[in-house]
Amino acid sequence: MMLTENVSRVSIAHLPTPLEALPRLTTHLRKVDVWIKRDDQTGLATGGNKARKLEFLVADALAQEANTLISGGAAQSNHARQTAAAAAKFGLACTLVLRGEEPPVARGNLLLDRLLGAETVWAGERPLDEVMQDVAADLIARGRRPYIVPYGGSNRIGATGYVAAMEELVTQCAKQGVTFDCLVIPSSSGGTQAGLAVGARALGFEGRILGVSIDKPAGVLQELLANLAQAVARWLGVEPDFSPADFDVADGYLGGGYGVVGDLEREAIQMMARTEGILLDPVYTGRAFGGLVDLIHQGAFENGERVLFWHTGGTTGLFGYGEVVL
Ligand SMILES: *Cc1c(COP(=O)(O)O)cnc(C)c1O
Repeated sequence: MMLTENVSRVSIAHLPTPLEALPRLTTHLRKVDVWIKRDDQTGLATGGNKARKLEFLVADALAQEANTLISGGAAQSNHARQTAAAAAKFGLACTLVLRGEEPPVARGNLLLDRLLGAETVWAGERPLDEVMQDVAADLIARGRRPYIVPYGGSNRIGATGYVAAMEELVTQCAKQGVTFDCLVIPSSSGGTQAGLAVGARALGFEGRILGVSIDKPAGVLQELLANLAQAVARWLGVEPDFSPADFDVADGYLGGGYGVVGDLEREAIQMMARTEGILLDPVYTGRAFGGLVDLIHQGAFENGERVLFWHTGGTTGLFGYGEVVL
């Protein structure tokens, strides 16, 4: 019986996503056997981890008879792009609250937000949550029925998408006759890592789950992950006793801050592109894969360990960054 079976869900993502070996990269890095989980191939205006979360979030919005989705993020937010696409697919309107000021030219994800028909509201320095609440109040006053999709899609509903993803992985591993010592993912708003952790506990998956922090000190991220995992576990009827120490987080790769591409990200993006022909993104997977390469070089893994790099998408962000990735 599937753990997520009784939670309402719409079908959006192309699942299961491929689980594949990376033989040239494995040779290049020596030491560890590196595989990839292609959540950049989920579909939904290209792909990415938000497609899995939106299967549960959109179902909840439809159950509440909402007719407009509101969400928010950075100007190059992948979550905003996929929320706009999900809204279009289900005939809902979409308003995106984006951080900062409107750039002179819409590129990358912002271009796609517009193409997908979303309205954009620029938050300047104001907290996104506050502006999203204002937008919701304004829509209600105009007779609309808004539904706020939380930042990164990371509440217990959205994170359930990654409990289901762990179910998918365990099934795939059995079918392909492969096991993993460690999963490596980028971690930011926490829904991905928290969902995987709840799924791992429920299914007895024994590998490590290492989150490479994108924008937070380890302690802050671990606290957030523990709270979110508890909420998800309680909701799904899994043992909810999670503490910050249960989460493996590497915070040595924050570099110049959120969305700043440095040598680590640039070299990682080029390495993956030129050894395997796979595109990473400038904000999340470039940083997380750069972190993994550095940890391998530092000797953080045993010889022959099998590591799964979970590609969470975001490649459309490349077109918002231009030549800084070269
Ligand atoms: C949002 C996002 C992440 C982070 O996932 P969280 O669930 O927010 O931790 C990782 N990679 C990409 C490409 C994303 O868009």
